[in-house]
Amino acid sequence: MSDCLFCRMVSGDIKPDLLHADEHLLVIRDINPQAPFHALVIPREHIATLNDLEPRHADTVGRMYLAARDLAAAQGFAADGFRTVMNCNRLAGQTVFHIHLHVLAGRAMHWPPG
Ligand code: 5GP
Ligand code: ZN
Repeated sequence: MSDCLFCRMVSGDIKPDLLHADEHLLVIRDINPQAPFHALVIPREHIATLNDLEPRHADTVGRMYLAARDLAAAQGFAADGFRTVMNCNRLAGQTVFHIHLHVLAGRAMHWPPG
């Protein structure tokens, strides 16, 4: 997927502001933060949208949430709280078509979300 921004980060072609990497995932700082802390948990495997998830991806998605939990704890946001968001397709505002979990923290979040 050479035309996919996040695949290019996974391959090392583009160097993001990396917070964590392992054999399954990258965690990067968002280039356009929507909160004092805003990171993206990105699986190494290219999956375009939530609509494309298959049962075999269950482990990957579980690992994405475990990484978000670990990140929030490491950054000191676990007790006060944080938000995780995965946008799917146009009406939700998805702009990069390789799934990613937003992790937002450091301010009060609104509900319902915009
Ligand atoms: P989406 O809109 O698809 O849910 O989220 C895509 C996110 O990727 C956005 O929050 C956007 O700011 C972020 N983003 C887009 N291009 C880059 C980039 O080149 N580097 C980083 N670190 N984040 C990016
Ligand atoms: Zn990709």
